[in-house]
Amino acid sequence: MPENFIHAFIEEDIAKGRFGRDIRTRFPPEPNGYLHIGHAKAICIDFGAAQKYGGKCNLRFDDTNPVKEDTEYVDSIKEDVRWLGFEWDGLYFASDYFGKMYECAEQLIEKGFAYVDDQSAEEISRTRGTLTQPGTPSPYRGRDAEENLLLFREMRDGKYADGEKVLRAKIDMASPNINLRDPVIYRIAHAEHHNTGDAWCVYPMYDFAHPIEDAIEDVTHSLCTLEFEDHRPLYDWVLEALDWPRPPRQIEFARLGLTHTLMSKRYLKKLVDEGAVDGWDDPRMPTIAGIRRRGYTPEAVRAFCEEIGVAKANSTVDIAMLEHFVREDLKARCDSRNVVFDPVKVVITNYPEGESELAAMENNRERPERGERSVPFSRELWIDGEDFMEDPPKKYFRLYVGNEVRFKGAYFLTATGFEKGADGRVSVVYCTYDPQTRSGSGFEGRKVKGTIHWVDAATAVPVTVREYGYLMDENEDGTQSLNEASVAEKACYAEPSLAEARPGDRFQFFRHGYYICDTKAPPEGPRVFNQIVGLKSSWKV
Ligand code: ATP
Ligand code: MG
Repeated sequence: MPENFIHAFIEEDIAKGRFGRDIRTRFPPEPNGYLHIGHAKAICIDFGAAQKYGGKCNLRFDDTNPVKEDTEYVDSIKEDVRWLGFEWDGLYFASDYFGKMYECAEQLIEKGFAYVDDQSAEEISRTRGTLTQPGTPSPYRGRDAEENLLLFREMRDGKYADGEKVLRAKIDMASPNINLRDPVIYRIAHAEHHNTGDAWCVYPMYDFAHPIEDAIEDVTHSLCTLEFEDHRPLYDWVLEALDWPRPPRQIEFARLGLTHTLMSKRYLKKLVDEGAVDGWDDPRMPTIAGIRRRGYTPEAVRAFCEEIGVAKANSTVDIAMLEHFVREDLKARCDSRNVVFDPVKVVITNYPEGESELAAMENNRERPERGERSVPFSRELWIDGEDFMEDPPKKYFRLYVGNEVRFKGAYFLTATGFEKGADGRVSVVYCTYDPQTRSGSGFEGRKVKGTIHWVDAATAVPVTVREYGYLMDENEDGTQSLNEASVAEKACYAEPSLAEARPGDRFQFFRHGYYICDTKAPPEGPRVFNQIVGLKSSWKV
């Protein structure tokens, strides 16, 4: 059974023997930035289709535009595709085909399908017409093949300045599809190219280059996003004009949009260049590098892409749905640790001074096979600031003077008093403990409503925790703006084992959420943990 309309088209083509060759797809990023989650969707579709139909998928860098591209991006894209769990069959650069593309352009000229136009870019766009009015033919449209060939070769040989001449396909200035009104297919750019250096000063335009790249690589299905739907007639025209046998078939799918973030490389690059974020891999960024550093797993991202599926209409997905898949994946793989936020000291006045004991803690409540660990417990502990209140509201079941709560894995404690620091905040809570309530002792004398976590003060390790808000705020009028306060650093206390956490290790911080030991933090000083996702979902399945 085909899972979606793309697979249905592929199966139809296989049944008809349309290509007479194995299925081949490609993922064709332009190396002008880092990949983002939208690209992850495209990667899953491109590689997924090849896998499903026993075909191949190439990674092809669409590097036909000399000025915006960089090898840093090429390297990051390879790393990101592999991180997502895919391996390409062929690795290609569109710029390797510049020679072939140039030949194709000459062929079009010889066939009378292309001409050199001396008009400026501005004149060309002004004479293109509108949706209701046909375009005006260029005065140079009638040049014969011989003259066009000569001029085009002069363009290639560097005789003209940028913008002085272009090569246009000769199609139909009255076409209802504006893309077919003699589109520019080659332009002059005296620019250094990251791969071909200064070998060329003419470069093909995307709409001309892309079908040729696909055809050279024997691609059968060229999967791309919806904005190329109106370009498909031009894609088909180019290959037909070149008499390409069994040309590839372009199929479009919807772009992925996510709430509270933005997926345009240009905008993301601006944030990086302006220093609004800590690089392309800032954990707030929707880039693959960012979500990797944030602690998302490739399994979760793939499961999300599978769930959103392939649609023919653009839509925006709630970011909470992506977080749901991340949380579900982390639940099974992360062990729990105790970390105290906004710490307040607890002193157990009836616990012997200088003594300590070990409390047993389960590592993962849903996976008993992951075992237990022991954490020290003694007279002085740290608890979360929000787990004690001076004036508790109704239904507050945590610590307040006179109330008894369970300290997870240890004893029942009753608050007896507190002290405030110079800043007016509660700094110490005095408690007593009941020795017969020790966890695991089978005590059933009475029940308490609240359970809180804690960290032994004598052995606690200080850690830095980064909590994140969303990169973008959603405004009421439907626009987005940059959230200026999207990261907060907190000084916390953790149980001793976190001193050994290695970069990339993920944990559930009990009652707080999932966190990853940052891969970029300096080796000295307190460990830094990035919040991956909170514990509670706001997404309704
Ligand atoms: P951006 O606007 O972010 O620069 P792009 O479309 O220019 O994106 P490319 O490098 O040209 O980026 O894209 C490579 C492939 O990824 C293309 O096939 C493109 O259609 C697809 N793609 C890009 N963004 C998305 C998205 N948000 N959702 C799904 N596919 C996407
Ligand atoms: Mg692009």
